[in-house]
Amino acid sequence: ARFATLLIVTGFLSTVGHLGSPAFGALDDDLLALDIVSKIHTDRSLTVEASSDFGHIVEATPNGVFHPASSADIATLIRFSLHQQTPFTVAPRGKGHSSRGQALAPGGIVVDMPSLGQGDHGHRINVSFDGMYVDVGGEQLWVDVLHATLKHGLTPRVWTDYLRITVGGTLSNAGIGGQVFRHGPQISNVQELDVVTGTGDMITCSPGNNSDLFYGALGGLGQFGVITRARVGLERAPKRVKWVRLAYTDVHQFTADQELLISHRAGFDYVEGQVQLKLTLTEGRRSSSFFSASELARLTELALGTGSAAVYFIEGAMYYDDRSAGTVEVDQKLEALLEELSFVPGFVFVRDVAYVQFLDRVGQEEQKLRSAGVWDVPHPWLNLFVPRSRIHEFAAGVFDGVLRGTRPVGLILMYPMNRDRWDDRMTTVTPDEDVFYAVGLLRSAVAAGDLERLERENEEVLELCDRAGIGCKQYLPHHASQDGWRRHFGAKWDRVAGLKATYDPRAILSPGQGIFPPAV
Ligand code: FAD
Repeated sequence: ARFATLLIVTGFLSTVGHLGSPAFGALDDDLLALDIVSKIHTDRSLTVEASSDFGHIVEATPNGVFHPASSADIATLIRFSLHQQTPFTVAPRGKGHSSRGQALAPGGIVVDMPSLGQGDHGHRINVSFDGMYVDVGGEQLWVDVLHATLKHGLTPRVWTDYLRITVGGTLSNAGIGGQVFRHGPQISNVQELDVVTGTGDMITCSPGNNSDLFYGALGGLGQFGVITRARVGLERAPKRVKWVRLAYTDVHQFTADQELLISHRAGFDYVEGQVQLKLTLTEGRRSSSFFSASELARLTELALGTGSAAVYFIEGAMYYDDRSAGTVEVDQKLEALLEELSFVPGFVFVRDVAYVQFLDRVGQEEQKLRSAGVWDVPHPWLNLFVPRSRIHEFAAGVFDGVLRGTRPVGLILMYPMNRDRWDDRMTTVTPDEDVFYAVGLLRSAVAAGDLERLERENEEVLELCDRAGIGCKQYLPHHASQDGWRRHFGAKWDRVAGLKATYDPRAILSPGQGIFPPAV
């Protein structure tokens, strides 16, 4: 059997091509390879699945998919790669919910992160009630973190809109949502990490310990190591939520109110916003998980009666406990807050839902889109951070310009955040202003020709930002050249390149980001 396995090793080496280096002769290395190779799967069904992502725009086939049982397995795989004359690339893949191949490994090995949490590999979400934190495996889904922490009456403070993405995947970007204005992105709420670096070392890091790796890995686009554990701060969980949408036809009033809301110490616990282009209301879906059919009809009338290109919605949420005093208090607090705002009179919509239902709202939407057959379609998403001082110029150029009259497909998000809640030592880049907006053009290509059109529009939006010098930064970034990446990171580029040289000098990790060319 051992001989047979060695043959498989040899087979693996030849499938990966150039792996047969002289260093691979020692007995230790053979044994190491045996264990690792048994966890690399080359079945077509697995490699095909790992060749694509949520974006369905790029495809690249790996040579194999690795199912680790532990962080040590990932470290061994990386060291195995480094033993080769030409190392193979290694891409941790959470749920592959990226849009542009960021978790792919063309000709390399994709690490199936969810394998870490499967079978008898142990329970990888551990809550410390006294410490008010949760230790969570990098492969875990946020929805599972939510349910595990709620059992203790606790919850993380900051959430992405969608919860079926992994802790390691979002922490490699930032993890943004409506709570960011108050608590910063998810990366600002991490106390400690376990990281397997591109040198095959397993390192625990925090602000006081290996801090360069800690800050580098947060927002690090998977470039310096694989996050296998994160310690995330918790707070007491509310039971219920007043979930509110307010409609505006004037973008200036919309942003003024959003900015007022994010400057409030008390007030909403969550603030986001949506831009509904007129056509989305007049020709779009006739049902929504938030609005009833009659509310949508009223909103359509509002859209038809305005000269504006869009109707804007502030989405707010106020948490509360379901004790009777809590219910009275929250109603009074909400009423007082609404009096400060300038939405179109009468266009306020309030839902009263459980905390879990509010946080998992996109999961419910996913079910609907799946049954309508429009979930597994191309998603040429473009996410930008736009400085507050230029947001109206951006809105005029994009909503009244590039996207005016465009056919409705998907969702446009727009909401502000406070920069002082971000930590500039982390790798994510933001505009250099106290307040900036996240604008997400989250559109789907459902009909023939949509993808090309949406890609063209995205290009036009980026060109507009460049031409006018608006100073936008991409979130979940994609750049086709290293020059593009240098501009993206700006003053942080030297630090990013330095961390890469230290922690992944052969550039084997997360090659799908296209930042550093892998060693040849
Ligand atoms: P993957 O796509 O698998 O990986 C992303 C990148 O991180 C890859 O480069 C990969 O190699 C690397 N990586 C993965 N795991 C690790 C790890 N453990 N250690 C180091 N590197 C790793 N984002 C927000 O911030 N806010 C939102 O509200 C939001 N909503 C979304 C809604 C939907 C429907 C979808 C599909 C995505 C949304 N996202 C949002 C984007 C999401 O954060 C990214 O897709 C992110 O990459 C997480 O997805 P994933 O866990 O599947 O990671």
